[in-house]
Amino acid sequence: MSNLERDTAETRCGGAGLATAVPTHEVLEPREVPLGGPRALVVRRTLPHRDRRMVGAWCFVDDYGPADVSAGPGMQVPPHPHTGLQTVSWLLEGEILHRDSVGSLQLVRPGELNLMTAGRAISHSEESPAERPAGLRGVQLWVALPDAHRQVDPHFEHHPDLPRVVDRDIAATVVFGELAGHVSPATTYTPIVGADVELGPRADTFLPLDSDFEHAVLGLSGRPEVDGVPVAQGTLLYLGTGRRDVALSAGDDGGRFMLLGGTPIEEELLMWWNFVGRSHDEIVQAREDWESGDRFGTVVGYPGDRLPAPPLPGTPLRPRPRVPRR
Ligand code: MN
Repeated sequence: MSNLERDTAETRCGGAGLATAVPTHEVLEPREVPLGGPRALVVRRTLPHRDRRMVGAWCFVDDYGPADVSAGPGMQVPPHPHTGLQTVSWLLEGEILHRDSVGSLQLVRPGELNLMTAGRAISHSEESPAERPAGLRGVQLWVALPDAHRQVDPHFEHHPDLPRVVDRDIAATVVFGELAGHVSPATTYTPIVGADVELGPRADTFLPLDSDFEHAVLGLSGRPEVDGVPVAQGTLLYLGTGRRDVALSAGDDGGRFMLLGGTPIEEELLMWWNFVGRSHDEIVQAREDWESGDRFGTVVGYPGDRLPAPPLPGTPLRPRPRVPRR
């Protein structure tokens, strides 16, 4: 996924002052963002949000579909660069073909994790394959790399077998990090959790959490209630830190959501376009390197041109407040 928003301001995120030190409820409504191009797929974005930039190391949350992609181009995200982050691609329905500059060519399918670690530099593309199911539904999430690891070699992982936490009312897939003692095989660089949680009809249960983490849930389908709060599809409910568990319930149709959590990031980060860095100069350099063809390698086989970088803001950059004003 590429960030194609018109607003090209840099976003400051991180800083321990941002995490709420106690359990809380904060509903973050999504904004709709077209992915670009004719008949573009529209995604619902909840991070970064005006009121909250990160949850643990999670710094970008896009949710899309259900969409019928049987006609037209479907999802087409031309080659574009990334630095300083990992991308977590998770499908609920349909297929996407991933290509990248370290030579990966991988079909993304529901229930399988595609994880791309950009480290110091990678480029990739995402496309609906020519032969494909009609439906498309998924999420794409970014995880910021901590300073000690953000220059790692770029690499790609495909994990078709992920641990499941199954009980009477609940079935959770541990996509990334650790949940209730179950650990995803994917490479992580900070204490973190990302899990796809399905609640059965009339579920009434608890899920154990790491009380050092801050958590949020992204509504996927149905009408799950988390700590008594209904979570609509595409909405992010921020839960704060300091929870040893959370109450979960659902109506007759059950419900599904993504649990996202992790240790609050104390480093201050700078996000612009598809780059996560630490300084304005670093972002400017990454943009120049993409435009000049250096550093980010080549994506082979994508049927189209690569994405040009948007212009940097023409006015002097004004850092956003570390703690959003309330
Ligand atoms: Mn991308």
